[in-house]
Amino acid sequence: NKNLRTPVIAGNWKMNKNRAEAKALLEELCPLVKDAGCGVVVCVPFTDLETALAATAGTNVKVGAQNCHFETSGAFTGEIAADMLAEMGVEYVVLGHSERRQYFAETDETVNLRTKAALAAGLKPIVCVGELLAQREQGITAEVVSLQTKVALQGIDAEGLRSIIIAYEPVWAIGTGKTATAEQAGEVCAVIRATVAGLYGEEAASHLVVQYGGSMNAGNAAELLAQPDVDGGLIGGASLKADAFSQIVEAAS
Ligand code: PGA
Repeated sequence: NKNLRTPVIAGNWKMNKNRAEAKALLEELCPLVKDAGCGVVVCVPFTDLETALAATAGTNVKVGAQNCHFETSGAFTGEIAADMLAEMGVEYVVLGHSERRQYFAETDETVNLRTKAALAAGLKPIVCVGELLAQREQGITAEVVSLQTKVALQGIDAEGLRSIIIAYEPVWAIGTGKTATAEQAGEVCAVIRATVAGLYGEEAASHLVVQYGGSMNAGNAAELLAQPDVDGGLIGGASLKADAFSQIVEAAS
């Protein structure tokens, strides 16, 4: 039942926007989405966090990071701890994005550790799962996504689950302009919810926000978001322009 969930539209800026550009984008975006009927989040590079927090202060736009480490401190050159983000006022963190898995050796296990660390720090993780093109062609999408979901959630209790968003991002649809069809997106988001229902029960699963991500834009958002198990989006390319992103927010409202 979709009414149990408030959709969340999250922008994933990836490695884009310096501080001046971040400030300009958010100053344009905030007024456009001020009456949004959904959650609005921007997940920005670490170097933009402070700028984004200042530019969104007093607005309905929340700020997220794009990763965090699983240890609380120590000799991990180049890494950022969840507590460091929480202390700044950051609310969300993207974890296990396919680019992290592909280029930075993230595994289901490290995504699970990072998810637990983020929850311990009071952050809301946006945990990304999704199959490769070869896996879809082999017909193992449901198994792959279900396993990624289970491992990501290992050792997390029902209270922790309430702070988690899961983003279904088919790897072949990210940044390629190839969106999953609404049916494909809806089908796999339903698999994720059923997996979570198997672990935590139907009631807990009925409150879980499951986003779709992968070439979502102003033109295709409404159809994707109309799917019964799609509760929002994780938006890459189209989050870099205020008008495009605000139109997706509008479609989710
Ligand atoms: P895209 O990226 O919207 O540019 O395909 C989505 C994502 O990677 O989160």
